[in-house]
Amino acid sequence: MKQNGTHEKEALGLYLHIPFCLSKCNYCDFCSFAVKGDFSTVQQYVDALCNEIAAYRYLSRKYELCTIYFGGGTPSLLSVEQLSQVMDVIYKTFSVSRYTEITLECNPGTTNEDKLAGYKGCLVNRLSIGLQSVSNERLKRLGRIHTYEQFLEQYETARKVGFQNISVDLMSALPGQSLKEYETSLKTVIALAPEHISSYGLIMEEGTPFYTDKTIWESLPEEKICVAMYERTGELLTGAGYEQYEISNYCKPGMYSRHNSSYWIGTPYLGVGLNASSYLQGEEIIPVLKVEEAGRMLRFRNGDSMKEYLLCYGNRAGKGEALSAIDEVAAYQYCSRQWREIEVLSDNDRMEEFVFLGLRRLEGIRLADFEQRFQIPFRTIYQKSLRKHINLGNLMRYEKEGFKYVALTPQGMLISNQVFVDFMF
Ligand code: SF4
Repeated sequence: MKQNGTHEKEALGLYLHIPFCLSKCNYCDFCSFAVKGDFSTVQQYVDALCNEIAAYRYLSRKYELCTIYFGGGTPSLLSVEQLSQVMDVIYKTFSVSRYTEITLECNPGTTNEDKLAGYKGCLVNRLSIGLQSVSNERLKRLGRIHTYEQFLEQYETARKVGFQNISVDLMSALPGQSLKEYETSLKTVIALAPEHISSYGLIMEEGTPFYTDKTIWESLPEEKICVAMYERTGELLTGAGYEQYEISNYCKPGMYSRHNSSYWIGTPYLGVGLNASSYLQGEEIIPVLKVEEAGRMLRFRNGDSMKEYLLCYGNRAGKGEALSAIDEVAAYQYCSRQWREIEVLSDNDRMEEFVFLGLRRLEGIRLADFEQRFQIPFRTIYQKSLRKHINLGNLMRYEKEGFKYVALTPQGMLISNQVFVDFMF
């Protein structure tokens, strides 16, 4: 409680899914649709999204937004007017502080100077640009809509209009990509000095054009080249003053992604829009919960059918009334009836998740945090797995500022999924 008697609100992350792209990339299995020149659905979706956000006003009793993240899809397909419409509803629905990190994912080839300046005017203070590679040949094979030159133009324009926090995404282990070519991508991006760089290895996802193309499988780099790419990422980026704070994420000092970091430290978040996931505490007013489940942490997601989403949250949702006009509790209950795959997390689920997410971060798990959260020492639960992976050189123990930590070693990071398996119940 604050000194003036008011209650401190808890931190909440807000994720907004914008499921539209100009065309589908060959490797992508995200929930996104190619707009094919028809932007009318985008406006209908934005209207529905605004209704959904407004219907969550009940949550503002307890939470303050610490981060807002527009992900996709391609959020930079939104016009400035559409973004402003969504931001207006967010500000009317939730408490947002001037320190709130507001990120928007951008794809090169979808913005110009006016648009980027407009986004800035809508209080977006962080851009995450999907570049993936500086090789135009590689970009074409990935099915990206842009060239390196278009990326550069977008990046420079973003700087010009005043964005001081930009992240650039790269990909490694791409078909036909050599170590040298990957290094060129890294060095070229480092020379631009963005505040944040992510680099993820390609995952061949079922159902994508890549997955069914034999020539793609044949042109993937060998395992040892992929390992070398991962190691060069660390060497080149840390050598250039970036800190690795998660397996695939690097930043200039202090410029980590607060939104993604909040996932890794277990901050609750609300996902709105198609297929968006949420992690929230169950409330007794939620009709689908049993009495004993209230108070537990829940994980759930929205459905992925555009037709159903527009029906649920279109302008005349809920017994013929505009959702925003229904009483806060009833509106929240309406939303909860749309949730899919609701998981009520047990203590074991939460411990597993705490360890899995904690170990993804370079600093690892602070043992005192584990004990405080679960009222039991980390070693009591995980002694066997801990000993095994310390002996194998995959985990290390260390102390910082009087606190004990367990973290992955560089070797452990390369096989992190194999280590995590031993920490599951
Ligand atoms: S731009 Fe991103 S979300 Fe859209 S198809 Fe490509 S990878 Fe998928």
